[in-house]
Amino acid sequence: MKSIENADKIFKILKDELEKYKIPVLSRLKWEEIVHTPFTTLISCILSLRTKDEVTEKASVKLLKEYNTPKKIISLSEKQIQKLIYPVGFYKTKAKRIKEISKTLIEKYNGMVPEDFDELLSLRGVGRKTANIVMVYGHKKKGYIPIDTHCHRIPNRLGWINTKTPEQTEKALRRLLPKKYWDDFNHIFVKFGQIICVPISPFCNQCPIKKYCKQISVTLHR
Ligand code: SF4
Repeated sequence: MKSIENADKIFKILKDELEKYKIPVLSRLKWEEIVHTPFTTLISCILSLRTKDEVTEKASVKLLKEYNTPKKIISLSEKQIQKLIYPVGFYKTKAKRIKEISKTLIEKYNGMVPEDFDELLSLRGVGRKTANIVMVYGHKKKGYIPIDTHCHRIPNRLGWINTKTPEQTEKALRRLLPKKYWDDFNHIFVKFGQIICVPISPFCNQCPIKKYCKQISVTLHR
């Protein structure tokens, strides 16, 4: 089986280099203002879709500081949820989904977030990325690789894989990336993608792993 060259070096360099930066919101193990549970992880992840980390963090705190269980969430009207989570992207749809999911958790799972990946996927509004995030950061389970836009883009630029969608990337990485890196992969690559290997015009001249990168499809960089 083909494997990723210099993976040990790349992971070590990125881990050391990125130490000084703030951890991406969804992978923080301890949050200062809200209780960290599988449910708060799930709701924060839904809030984070197409939304910047700072906005997600503020909205998560506003909503989940007080309303941190499905039962408490369903005591709110959709309008109240909208008000608390504004201005996250698609706040109206998200308010509706958050209420629906909370109701389903109460009716089907006794108010708990299922620990089964497929059960998570069956919740309306929960896709593979969210389900993987909840398994890793909510339930602290091993064997999952959450793939967001950064985790999809960077391995393609590095030349590790050649994939078109995050789903294909997850599949390819599960095959190519040795398991010992799975736990770290998401938070390291999200941080790296937010700070250096940014979507448009990455900072290749400051990149600590430039010599290991094939810069695939990188036409514009700094
Ligand atoms: S060299 Fe550029 S494209 Fe490659 S990983 Fe570094 S920042 Fe990203």
